[in-house]
Amino acid sequence: MAGIWIMRIGHRPDRDKRVTTHVALSSRALGAKGIYVDTFDPVLEENIRSVVGRFGGDYTIQTGVKWKDVVKNFDGKIVHLTMYGSRVDEALPQIPKDENILIFVGAEKVPPEVYQRADFNISVGNQPHSEIAALAIFLDRFTEGKALYEDRNGRMTVIPNERGKTVVNNPE
Ligand code: SAM
Repeated sequence: MAGIWIMRIGHRPDRDKRVTTHVALSSRALGAKGIYVDTFDPVLEENIRSVVGRFGGDYTIQTGVKWKDVVKNFDGKIVHLTMYGSRVDEALPQIPKDENILIFVGAEKVPPEVYQRADFNISVGNQPHSEIAALAIFLDRFTEGKALYEDRNGRMTVIPNERGKTVVNNPE
């Protein structure tokens, strides 16, 4: 089955720790299958694997991988989220749903080669904002919201509650 992966480029472990963690967690919650991060960051890997261990699913993380190598081995379309790209509402119908997609999000300045290599350069509005917000909006639209309440068979399952917190601990 086709899947969605994230390529995070320009990650600086000291400065981007929180943002890249949220890129990974948000993309996991919104239906992505995994993330590649260009800079080696074992703490980030450990944090994401710990969430997957508790809340389930098979989201993967690999850090210290060059984007060109990821692209070389990737079978599918490359999407780059950038405020300079085509309008998301116009681009979405052109992205095939039966192929894998690899979504690039930057931290600092993204090299021009990425713009050239991408099959789709897509903006979520033409204002500068955040990779977390851009990715969340893109994924929600691309998946039509279907991933949000998927069961992940985790050790911990949260049951929606109008007030308070209901968490079920599932037997291993
Ligand atoms: N200054 C950097 C540059 O010019 O490439 C971008 C920094 S921005 C904080 C980090 C990332 O957020 C971008 O690489 C892009 O992936 C994403 N982003 C920010 N605003 C966006 C928008 N309006 N549409 C799509 N993606 C956006």
